[in-house]
Amino acid sequence: MTGNIKTSKTVDTTKKGEYKITYTVSDSAGNTKSVIRKVIVYEKMTTGVTPTGRTIYLTFDDGPSAHTAKLLDVLKKYDVKATFFVTNQAITHGHDDLILRAYNEGHTIGLHTYTHNYNIYTNIDTYFNDLYAIQQKVQQITGYTSTIIRFPGGSSNTVSRKYDGGAKIMSVLSKEVEARGFRYWDWNISSGDAGETRSTAQIVKNVTKSLGNGSTYVVLQHDIKDFSVNAVEEIIQNALARGYSFKPLTMDSPTVHHGINN
Ligand code: ZN
Repeated sequence: MTGNIKTSKTVDTTKKGEYKITYTVSDSAGNTKSVIRKVIVYEKMTTGVTPTGRTIYLTFDDGPSAHTAKLLDVLKKYDVKATFFVTNQAITHGHDDLILRAYNEGHTIGLHTYTHNYNIYTNIDTYFNDLYAIQQKVQQITGYTSTIIRFPGGSSNTVSRKYDGGAKIMSVLSKEVEARGFRYWDWNISSGDAGETRSTAQIVKNVTKSLGNGSTYVVLQHDIKDFSVNAVEEIIQNALARGYSFKPLTMDSPTVHHGINN
């Protein structure tokens, strides 16, 4: 019956605005059914801006959470793809659907940690048991086997010294993850949402002021924090207007690694 569907008007994607379209179809017995769909056409943010070839990788750690849906809406509005380094912390429970939604909408699902307890750094096995647990969870939800990771605390963390009995675990793990087919990313722009600030305006400022002439920017934010999620739209608007583009991390993306301190 698809061929018999009548639409009340067409959407002009060159003109911004809201379009209400009625779809109507009748069957041979004369039953008629209509649905109305609202289509919103946004103005393209990059009009008149020369692309600079500089790329921003927005990354969100620790989620998903109740704030992730709103974040996905903003990313969709600007057709920006990002990377979610997910966990299985209590705050994520009940939000498996958001991992699936993010995946289906073209974002990268990266692996952060199952427990987010720093005792994972006790030894190689405790680390990989935790990593494989979150990999399996993502696999069960999406069917996708992610090998894109971010170490809790970043590869430069020193908190691992408290757990590893002097084994210099980060020096070991940073090599071992790659030997097992993973790649890890740290960040070169910190939004400050991990404790330095709870101000949305400050987060926008921290990120947009750090954008310069480099080719690769990996931004660290946390989608379990409302005040940080609320900064994303302005960050996107600012960066697009300055000619930056956004990409999700893939196994081929440029490496951004911190120095190892343990
Ligand atoms: Zn984290």
